[in-house]
Amino acid sequence: MHIEIVTIGDELLLGFTIDTNAAHLAREFAALGVRIVRRTTCGDDADSIAGAVRDALGRTGAVITTGGLGPTADDQTKPAIGALFGRGMVLDGDILANLEQRWLKRFGHPLPTSNRQQAMVPDGATILENRHGSAPGIWLEDAQGRWVAMLPGVPREMRGMVADTLLPRLRERIAPGGPVVRARTLRTANIAESALADRLGELAGGVNGLSLAYLPGRDGVDLRLTSYSLPSMETERALNAAAVLVREKVGRFVYGEGDDDLAALMLAECGARGATIAVAESCTGGMLGMRLTAVPGSSRVVLGGTIAYANEVKIRELQVAAEDIAAHGAVSEPVARAMATGVRRRFGSSIGIGLTGLAGPGGGTPDKPVGTVWVAVDVDGDVHAVRAVLPGDRGEIRWRAAQLALDRLRRAFAQDTEGAAWTARGA
Ligand code: AMP
Ligand code: MG
Repeated sequence: MHIEIVTIGDELLLGFTIDTNAAHLAREFAALGVRIVRRTTCGDDADSIAGAVRDALGRTGAVITTGGLGPTADDQTKPAIGALFGRGMVLDGDILANLEQRWLKRFGHPLPTSNRQQAMVPDGATILENRHGSAPGIWLEDAQGRWVAMLPGVPREMRGMVADTLLPRLRERIAPGGPVVRARTLRTANIAESALADRLGELAGGVNGLSLAYLPGRDGVDLRLTSYSLPSMETERALNAAAVLVREKVGRFVYGEGDDDLAALMLAECGARGATIAVAESCTGGMLGMRLTAVPGSSRVVLGGTIAYANEVKIRELQVAAEDIAAHGAVSEPVARAMATGVRRRFGSSIGIGLTGLAGPGGGTPDKPVGTVWVAVDVDGDVHAVRAVLPGDRGEIRWRAAQLALDRLRRAFAQDTEGAAWTARGA
């Protein structure tokens, strides 16, 4: 089944409200085997609504709208779509009784006249009960089986109604054993999209008929395999097989699946090894410690850390040699190494992580452009260091630097000693 979504509201067009309703609907329906093939957003006027819904109905015969079901003048959805179906508006006695009851109970006075509009529905409509708010949803269907489901705009009400009434309704209409949409995500760190595609070779455009999407974000590039055309029984096997093929090509860059968090994975690994961690952070100012301690149970692994922002602090608290800073600069391999080892000794942990970099926006030089980061990981005295030039603004560089440090730890555990990270230029 193919469905189109029309989200209604001037606030969506103006960008004041982000259209989370469309995203929620798409995710819920994909799992059911329903393809959302197009999303449209229109303003609150009747002509725009009628136009958008008419076009969508013409293409798929199945449309879900959200928004514009309230009691005010900008709530035009019901009459506009009713008119498309050639239906006039009639007062629904049940809705009216329900509204009157709610008002008396909640506010202690009778329903204002303007709210009576909420009880007006297109003639012949089916009412979709709303247990989460006052405006019920509407289902309109014509003799050819073309339908529009109108849901309220308030996200919490819309989500509740989808679960309570719309999904069960659509499930009945879908032939069992039909195709469903399922996805599997492999999470990679410290490799660029283009480098991933190069490594994937002939798999870059898709694997065994499954589509492959590259989703870059601040954690790295997620690779999402999606199955659109297989029945539910076969999707799991197909996704597993495809994931194995992708891992054969880029496996050393893959740190997890789904919504795995690299900090949580590293804590689990440390826990299994009986290892403890201390961090020495310069440009990230505690972000690495924040990410590690955000994970429940981190106290078994994380001992503490030092925010060593100023050079004096690096020297005094972590025994970084002043000569190294003078000779190589604070953002350099010897300093990162000394920070990792210094913090490990100081806290008595088995692992020390040192992180120093230039988050910008000012201060870059041709040798050390903004984004230059050195990370060192000291595991029981065995030190691995890596340099990267990370892209993005100050916030992104700082986040990526923490991710780089976690990934360096992962590589150290895996005995993966290859030095350069994906953004490294030059030395
Ligand atoms: P409405 O039902 O059109 O009166 O919408 C009520 C409220 O729900 C609006 O003020 C928005 O804050 C919110 N809303 C409406 N449509 C959406 C949407 N597509 N995504 C997220 N929020 C929405
Ligand atoms: Mg609105």
